[in-house]
Amino acid sequence: MKVAGRITGEALLVAKELIKEGVTTKQIDDKIRMYIKKCGAKPTFLGYGGFPGSACISINEEVIHGIPSHSRVLKNGDIVKIDVGAQWKGFTGDSAATFAVGEISEEAKKLIKTTEECFFKGIEAIEKAETPRIGDLGFAIASHAHANGFSVVEQYTGHGVGSELHEDPSIPNYGTSGRGVRIYPGMTLAIEPMINEGTKSVKVLKDGWTVVTADGKLSAHYEHSVAVTNNGIILLTKVD
Ligand code: MG
Ligand code: MG
Repeated sequence: MKVAGRITGEALLVAKELIKEGVTTKQIDDKIRMYIKKCGAKPTFLGYGGFPGSACISINEEVIHGIPSHSRVLKNGDIVKIDVGAQWKGFTGDSAATFAVGEISEEAKKLIKTTEECFFKGIEAIEKAETPRIGDLGFAIASHAHANGFSVVEQYTGHGVGSELHEDPSIPNYGTSGRGVRIYPGMTLAIEPMINEGTKSVKVLKDGWTVVTADGKLSAHYEHSVAVTNNGIILLTKVD
């Protein structure tokens, strides 16, 4: 899990370096695939449920599952979410982040920052709890999003991650403290706040994949695969 996580995190850094006006999402996807293969790993997302890319690349109001395309060109002022996974010796990482293309609005900056903070508030909540549960994580994430005037996507969640990309338990980005599945040392989890500028409602486009906000406002995403240990949480996909 550590090696799969490291390669996943590095692939995300490779993508981050490429982000600028005029680049297509297919170009980013190609570089991600090449990097993962160079590391002796497999892009987990490629062919997963029939997904055609090695990464999900989602722009502005697109929340998750954007399909890399030659016709999607990054523009100044866009925010772009890149979600990637690398599989190594039967184990997989899963990580996502939101990046700015050139100069973005103050509101967009606040949304990206808040979404990252939501992730770390969640981690803090499970490290602090005596008997941590999934609800502690969701409560911490949602509280921070709401305190900043944003909403939390409810139809899609974080998840266990390991030999499969999506394992139990499901990890909603909302919840009640002290409720839900117990979090034990040895678990590996993908924690991934998806935070919207406007409504929490989302819908799927006709391509069958791309999830967008129902009101067309911005969405941000931040994800790491983590390992729960007796000595705290290890961020498996954080390499920077
Ligand atoms: Mg992901
Ligand atoms: Mg995930």
